[in-house]
Amino acid sequence: MTNPLSPFATDRAEQPRPAGRAQAAPAPVEPGLPLLICASHREPWTQRRVGHAELTVRTTGGLVTALDAALRRLGGRWIATGSEPRRSRAPEDEDGATYEVEQLGLTTREMDGYYSGFSNGVLWPLFHYFLGRVNFDAREWREYERVNARFAAAVARGLEESDGAVAWVHDYHLTLAPMMIRKLRPHARVGFFLHTPFPAFEVFRILPTRQQLLEGLLGADLVGFHTRSYRDAFLEAVQKLVGARSDRRGAVEYRGHRTRTLFSPIGVDVERLSALGQDPRTTSKAQRLRRSVPGDQIVLGIDRLDYSKGILERLAGFERLLERQPRYRGHVTLVQIAVPSRERISDYQRLKRDVDGAVGRLEGRYGDAAWSPVRYITRSFQPDDLAAWYRAADICLVTPLRDGLNLVAKEYVACRVDGGGALVLSEFCGAAEELTGAYFANPFGPDSIADALEQALTDDRMERERRMAHLREEVVGNDVHEWAQGFLRDLAQG
Ligand code: UDP
Repeated sequence: MTNPLSPFATDRAEQPRPAGRAQAAPAPVEPGLPLLICASHREPWTQRRVGHAELTVRTTGGLVTALDAALRRLGGRWIATGSEPRRSRAPEDEDGATYEVEQLGLTTREMDGYYSGFSNGVLWPLFHYFLGRVNFDAREWREYERVNARFAAAVARGLEESDGAVAWVHDYHLTLAPMMIRKLRPHARVGFFLHTPFPAFEVFRILPTRQQLLEGLLGADLVGFHTRSYRDAFLEAVQKLVGARSDRRGAVEYRGHRTRTLFSPIGVDVERLSALGQDPRTTSKAQRLRRSVPGDQIVLGIDRLDYSKGILERLAGFERLLERQPRYRGHVTLVQIAVPSRERISDYQRLKRDVDGAVGRLEGRYGDAAWSPVRYITRSFQPDDLAAWYRAADICLVTPLRDGLNLVAKEYVACRVDGGGALVLSEFCGAAEELTGAYFANPFGPDSIADALEQALTDDRMERERRMAHLREEVVGNDVHEWAQGFLRDLAQG
C-alpha cells in the first residue's frame, strides 16, 4: 500500500525512538509511520440488531469517513464516549487494515452535564447564534471539564503507548482537551478541528467560561475550521479575550506555546458517492422513488431534526411558493427526511412537535386525495438509500439557519454523476463559501426560499446543467481524504 501521508515519514525519521518503550497500542499498518490518536464524542462504529444478529455498523457522516480511512492507513486508536468502557477493533477492511476503538463509558450524570448540558445546551446554540436557547449552568460546565479531562487522560495514555503518535481532537464537545493533553504530554503534537461555526466575537463573548475555552484550544499546535470567517472570528476572540495577537499566517503565541490555525472545509468521499450515484441499483431505486411520489418534481430536504437546520422556515418557504404559484400545486412535492436527534433534550422534543404540526397544516391547506404537498419521513437512511433519494430529486433544498458546513449539500452534488438536479442553499451555512453554483436563499424569509426555488424550477435546462457542472467541479476538487491528509500533513510539519 502506498502512503499518501509521506511527510510523516520524514517527521518520523527525525524522531529518535526511545529504547525499550512498551508498544501496547496496535502495531501500525505501515511500520515506520507514527500512529494517530483521534478523539471525538461519537464513536465510529456501533452495534445494531438486525433480526437475531448483532451487527457492527459504521456511524455516518463525513468525519467518520475521513478519520476511519486515515486511521486504517496509519494505524492507531479512536477514543469516543460510548455507554460502557470498552476496547475493541474496527472491522478489518479488504486489506486487513484496522485500528483500535476505545470507548470511555460515560455515566448518565456525565452525559447529562457534559453532553446534553454544556455541549448541546450552551455551545451548540451559542455557536449557531441561537442566543435565547443558551442555558448556562455551572454544574454542567464542571461536568464538561471532567469529561474533557477523561478524554485528555485517555489520549495521553494513547500517546504514551504509541511512540511518536500525533493526537487529533474533534469538535465542540472537547474544546478543553488540547490544553489538558499538552499538560500531560508537553512534547506531543496535538491537532484540533471545530466542525461547527465559530461565532462572531459579540456572540462568543456571551459565554461565561469563554477564557477557559480559548485557553483549552490554545493547547493545540494546529486548530482547524471549515471557513475563513470562523477562523478569523476565533483569532479576534483570542486577541480580545486573552490578549494574544496572531501573526500574518494566523499563528498565535500564548504563554510560550505557538498555535497555528487553518481553514479547510471538509469534503465528501467523492469516489464512493460517484460510484453509488451511478450504480444501476441506485438508479432503479431512484426511479421507484420517483414513481412513489405523486407530482412531477421532487424537492428534497434531508436534515437531523435540529433547530439550526431551519426545517420550519423551509416549510414556510415551500408554502409561500405554493401560495404564490398555484401552478405548482399537485406538481411539486417536498420530500422532507427529518432524522430524530438529541431526543432527550426538551428543545428537540418541542421542535419535533412543531414540525409535525407545520407539516399537518400544509397538508390540510393544499393536500387532496391525489397529492400531498409534503412527504414527511422521520427516520434515517443508509447511504445507498440516500443516494437513491439524491438521484431522484430535481432540487435539493438545504436551508439551515446556521450550519458549520453541511455535508448533505455536497453529497447531493457528488451523487449527481448525471449532471442533473439543482441545489438551493442557505447563505448561512459554511458550504455557501464554496458552492457558488447553488441558488442562494436567506432562510429567515419565506419569500427568499420561494424565490430561489422558483428560479431553480423555471431556469432552462442549460442553465441548470451549467450550475451543476460548476458545483461538481467544486465538490470533486475537495475530497474528504485529501482534507484529512492535508490537516495531518500540516500538523506533522508544524
Ligand atoms: N445522513 C444519513 N442518513 C440519513 C440522513 C443523513 O446517513 O437518513 C447523513 C448524511 O449523509 C450526512 C450526515 O448525516 O453525511 C449529515 O451531515 P450534515 O453535515 O449535513 O449535518 P449534521 O447532521 O452533521 O449537522
